Amino acid sequence: MMLDQQTLYLSAIVSRLAFLVVFVVIIVGQPRERHLWCWLIALLSAALGLMMLYRASIPALGYSIGCGLILLSLFFSWCGVRYFYGRRPRGAHAVLCLFGPLLLHIGCLVVGAPAHVALSPLYLASALIALLIVVEVVTSPDKRLITQYVIAAAYFGYGLGFLQQGLTLLINASTPVGLNNTNEALALFDQVGSIMVYFAYIAMSTERANRQLAIQAETDPLTGLRNRRGGQRALHEIELVPETTSVLVGDLDHFKRINDRLGHDQGDRVLCLLAARLTRGARRADVIVRWGGEEFLLVLPNTDRHGAMQIAERIRETVMNEPFDMAEVPLPVTISIGVATLKAEDADIEAAIKRADAALYCAKQSGRNRVCTSDERSERDTAKTDRDE
Ligand code: GH3
Ligand code: MG
Ligand code: MG
Repeated sequence: MMLDQQTLYLSAIVSRLAFLVVFVVIIVGQPRERHLWCWLIALLSAALGLMMLYRASIPALGYSIGCGLILLSLFFSWCGVRYFYGRRPRGAHAVLCLFGPLLLHIGCLVVGAPAHVALSPLYLASALIALLIVVEVVTSPDKRLITQYVIAAAYFGYGLGFLQQGLTLLINASTPVGLNNTNEALALFDQVGSIMVYFAYIAMSTERANRQLAIQAETDPLTGLRNRRGGQRALHEIELVPETTSVLVGDLDHFKRINDRLGHDQGDRVLCLLAARLTRGARRADVIVRWGGEEFLLVLPNTDRHGAMQIAERIRETVMNEPFDMAEVPLPVTISIGVATLKAEDADIEAAIKRADAALYCAKQSGRNRVCTSDERSERDTAKTDRDE
């Protein structure tokens, strides 16, 4: 199939200019995001590089500059991907993948090597960078970002294309560049690959921002525990088994006094230290929630009433016996805890939480620094009713 390479180049330039407009608009709203600036520079240098290739023939300075700009574009794409993952690009990367190959290319031209041989370091370096981007994605800190794999797939294609082109130039130097099938195939692949890459860059940024927002919306910023909203979602996800799912609602005693005596900052510190203690003592399946100001909810799967009482008692004792390490003096703190276990007749976990809440009220009423169960409470209520009668 004969393809008009000029048309392919022109279409590649036009699509990049369109993406350039989109990136400029995005960057106006997020000027501090370095990865976006890198990708903008990548787009710009790719568009300029393609313009040079569109006009140039070989051997010509324009062709060298065009290939150099494409290499620069790939390098900035790679830098953008690194910044996106919080990995700073290093000077050695630029020497190895950018300046080294460019110097090699110039050196080849200076010593009079054939133009095709001289171009091969630029193509091989482009292949190296494309494959390094794939490595960045594969070793990404967030494996769940789906859109990043679109980028990896596209750059894998680019990497193979550049590699084949570079080797062809090196081995078969008599083939004129621009007229061989590999270059044509690469230009054709670029029609799809560039859209995949730049669209996925935008989608990847949005996907991560959405995920971060969702996490923030469900996390208590002070303690790092789930907030009420996060807790409610987690509760819908765990399997609730009657008699072996228990709920603890703990509330610090006289917390207002701690705030009044030591200040709000120190009160905050107590909440953080308590959250850390609860997290340290919890199992993986346990759900810990900052339910209110100084009130914490623990949902314990595979824990019967007896087990839940033991856990609650252990928490109460450690809070009381291991004073909180505050700035000035160790601070004695106590907690009251209400315990309830899910019953077969409960429609949902909310019923058990309500009972644990009532048991907590009972613990407060009977002197604080204690654990009460909903059963104790109902027994007491029954006894009280009997006496009243
Ligand atoms: P009780 O033993 O009956 O639970 O008494 P209490 O003082 O702990 O309870 P109360 O409900 O009277 O006061 C709770 C206090 O918790 C009041 C509020 O200022 C404080 N509080 C709520 N959220 C925070 C917070 O994020 N940081 C700090 N430092 N204090 C908080
Ligand atoms: Mg309290
Ligand atoms: Mg309270």
